[in-house]
This record gives sequence, structure tokens and C-alpha cells, in this order.
Amino acid sequence: MKDNAHPVVNVVMYHYVFDADDNDFNHLKGITTDMFRSQIDILAKEYSFISALDYLDYIEDGKQLPPKACILSFDDGTSDHYRHVFPILQELGIPGYFSIVTSAIQDRQPLFVSLIHNILESFRPQDICQKMNSIISDKYPAHPKLSLDHAYMGYPYDTKERAAIKYQVNYCWNPSITQAIVSDFYSRFVEPLDVFVDKFYLDWDQVLEMEANDMVIANHSHRHSAYSLLSDDEIADDLKKSGEYIRDKITNTRSLRFFTYPYGTKGSFNGSTIDIVKDFKYKIAFSTTRGQNDARVDLLRLKRNSTSDLPS
Ligand SMILES: [Zn+2]
Repeated sequence: MKDNAHPVVNVVMYHYVFDADDNDFNHLKGITTDMFRSQIDILAKEYSFISALDYLDYIEDGKQLPPKACILSFDDGTSDHYRHVFPILQELGIPGYFSIVTSAIQDRQPLFVSLIHNILESFRPQDICQKMNSIISDKYPAHPKLSLDHAYMGYPYDTKERAAIKYQVNYCWNPSITQAIVSDFYSRFVEPLDVFVDKFYLDWDQVLEMEANDMVIANHSHRHSAYSLLSDDEIADDLKKSGEYIRDKITNTRSLRFFTYPYGTKGSFNGSTIDIVKDFKYKIAFSTTRGQNDARVDLLRLKRNSTSDLPS
């Protein structure tokens, strides 16, 4: 395999994709199916859509790829991917890459990142702060309080207050305590968690139907915690559990070579995380660092571009 023969691989990252009348999702930050279709049209002018498995075949066996290839990737295993994305990809013959979180699908536990997205769209930042801090005072008196003044530049599409909330819960607090605090908030002020989980996440039947129709199912961790906040043993445990759940269900074992880092930002994993990911035999790991992948690609830090950066 000659370096200069490496194709350009543009991986595009999506989260929520909904129909205008989908009340479970249309209040969230995401895109409509019409916008999704028009982004595909734009991408198709420049790129050929390939499966992540084609890329693996290229890496491992030198399988020929088009010079400018594109992989569409969908994170977090939410049910909009089955209801809205899967039919469109099937219609257009595009094999998507879907990263699932096994605590949601297997254990029916919500990801706190999804609860936070819903809470942010249902309450004003000041009210979130007041409600969350009352839970913290009540149950975790030694825990730091939520503050709206925490400056963080990593969320260009959020207001300063929303960015402050997301930064603290995603990157500063112990993930287990965050899970407990945010779950308590959601079930107290919005709706029971089992109601939320059933409407919000894929189930195994949906995952397997998608896989049987050329979609690639990949591991996005068991608990969706930033790996930088976990010990090496906790990371290994998270990878082991999620890997086993997925291996026991899916058909195509070559998909077990893919991992998608929770959050995927530079600060959410590091060199020692990558060593552990390698120990678990992952070959290609997707980050959220922007950019295309060319001959200089680091396969365990694959770059992706955000749908929010594309015209729609
Ligand atoms: Zn994610």
C-alpha cells in the first residue's frame, strides 16, 4: 500500500435527525430529515459513500477505494436513527456507521448526556442551576455546585450558560455522581426514566435489523463517560462489558474492530486510553477532532467533520 495512494476519507458525524413532527426529538439541537437529505446531495457531488467496513478492508487488505470517500456516522444509539435515518440510507443505498452505547440498549439506563440535552431544552439555565444545586445540597453536600460562570469555548453552538452546564457535567464531575444527579433531576422534574429510555434509544431488534441491511454497528462504550475521567481499570472494564454485549448480539464480527470514543474531543481521551483501546483489538477509532483523513491518518484518532459545520 503506497502512502500517496491513500484516498481522502471524510467521516461526517451526526447526532439527532428528526422529522418536523417527531415530538420526542424535534426540540433538540439536530437536523430535520429534509436537511439531512440535502446534506447528502451536497456530499454526493464530491464524495462516494462507503461503508466503514470498506475502509477496514482497505487498511487490512488493500481493497480499492474511491479517491474521495465519505462515511456517514451516527452517535449514541438513539431511536431517531432507526425511525428517520435508516429508511433514508436504505433508500439511497448508503451504508451508515452507527455507534451504540450498551448501558442504554442492554441495561435500559439513560446516558446523562441525553438527559442533559433534554433538560437544556426544557428549562432556563438559571432554573437548571437552582434545581440541580438543590439536589446536590440534599444528597451530595460535598460535591461542587453547578455554576453558570464556568467559561468554556468548546461548544460553539451554545450560549455561555449552556456551555458552562455541559462542560461541568460532561468533563468535570465524577461520571457516576453526574449520572445520579442528572437522573434524579430528570425523573423529578420531567418524566420517569423508563418512559424516557423506551422512547429515546434503539433496542436490539432495531439494531439487528439495521445490521442485516448493511448498516455497521460499532461500540461507543458502555456508559458514555469521558475516558479521561476514568482510571485505566475502569476504561478496560467499560470496553470489556460493551464489547461483550455487542459481540453476543451482532452478526458481522469485523465490526468489532471499530470504536467511537465517548465525546471524542482531544481532552476526552489520551495516549494511555489509546493503548487500552488497542489491547482490546480495535483497529479504527473515531474521534470528534475535525478534518479529513488522508495518508497521514492516525487510525486510532480518526477525524470527523460535524454536520453542524456543513451547509444545510
Ligand atoms: Zn456520544
